Amino acid sequence: MRKYDENKDKSRAWLEIDLNNLKHNAKVLQGVMAADCTLMAVVKANAYGHGDIEVAACLNSAGVNSFAVATIDEGIRLRKNNITGEILVLGYTDVTRAKELEQFELMQTVIDYSYGIELSKQGLRISVHVKVDTGMHRLGFGEKEYEKAAEIFGLDNLTVEGIFTHLCASESNEEEDIDFTYNQINTFYSFLEELKTLGINLPKVHIQSSYGLLNYPELQCDYTRIGIALYGSLSTLHDKCRITPDLRPVLSLKAKVALTKALSAGESLSYGRTYTAAKAMKIAILPIGYGDGLPRNLSNSRTSAILKGKKVPIIGRICMDQLIVDITDLNCVKRGDIATLIGSEGGEEILAAEVAEEGDSIANELLSRLGSRLNRIYVEKETEQDHLEYSVSGTV
Ligand SMILES: *Cc1c(COP(=O)(O)O)cnc(C)c1O
Repeated sequence: MRKYDENKDKSRAWLEIDLNNLKHNAKVLQGVMAADCTLMAVVKANAYGHGDIEVAACLNSAGVNSFAVATIDEGIRLRKNNITGEILVLGYTDVTRAKELEQFELMQTVIDYSYGIELSKQGLRISVHVKVDTGMHRLGFGEKEYEKAAEIFGLDNLTVEGIFTHLCASESNEEEDIDFTYNQINTFYSFLEELKTLGINLPKVHIQSSYGLLNYPELQCDYTRIGIALYGSLSTLHDKCRITPDLRPVLSLKAKVALTKALSAGESLSYGRTYTAAKAMKIAILPIGYGDGLPRNLSNSRTSAILKGKKVPIIGRICMDQLIVDITDLNCVKRGDIATLIGSEGGEEILAAEVAEEGDSIANELLSRLGSRLNRIYVEKETEQDHLEYSVSGTV
């Protein structure tokens, strides 16, 4: 790791990833789980935009040895970068890639009966987790298909290491959704009972993702599959959860001011001329746009940036590579000043969930789309003196 250097680090815009907060979140989440339950860190979609390898390596060093990804290629990428421990592929993998599952020691989800049979026919020893569909109606065995699921346990080539389901409304505190969720949970446990009746020794069991843990912490499971909470965010700002561990945002999004200029009353700005200055004003151009993952539907004051410790609104349309903020109320903004679009500065804070909500989405989507074009700067305090170490990865 090298130290951050103002002169060397010439990014126009970047993501700052606080690895201390990541480790803190892993620790407090483990603290609210049962002692014998394992945190399975969900690092799909480039660890929700945080950088999959750096996040997984940091978690490995903090003692987390269980990961989930969505695709086989995400799993292979982790292995090729020396990530150790278990890696579960949650999504569909073409069975012709069984050799890679075996070679890279990836566990594959069995998404239904015929998939399990086909995977087994590849003639390789593959570790799997069986998925049960209890109401999401996405992947998994039907809730009455326990006999077929039992057959999967009997296949020579597949070693069933786990069985799981996924809740589809665990974030809600509407009574109807809570009833639905308990129904999913009961359906899953009944499925397990049926398997036991059929003589199956149950493997590891898991149900909860972030909101499953935060709203149904009493469930007895062997794993929790935690994504968004690990990154220190809720999906939606105002979700009320039954438990509220001290989660800290891991990611900040920053950009350097490229240019400031004055506008006269009556002058419009950006594409489509959706904003016109009502009076003389000052604006700053930030070199970041929807091409970096900041959604265009946040245009025209739906969100802000923090500049000089004050929130300033984004005005006019967000472009692919640039956006404009109103700095009329600020003094002495100059080229190179750092604006924070997600994160905190000088007592002000902009949360990912807040920005996402303004764009009619959730933090999961916003974060996972950030950064195909941004540097990621990893920040970690290495010593007791709060000495900061930085490392940079990605493209400029
Ligand atoms: C993405 C995903 C998770 C993680 O969900 P969060 O809400 O981000 O914690 C867990 N389980 C499955 C099956 C997933 O697809």
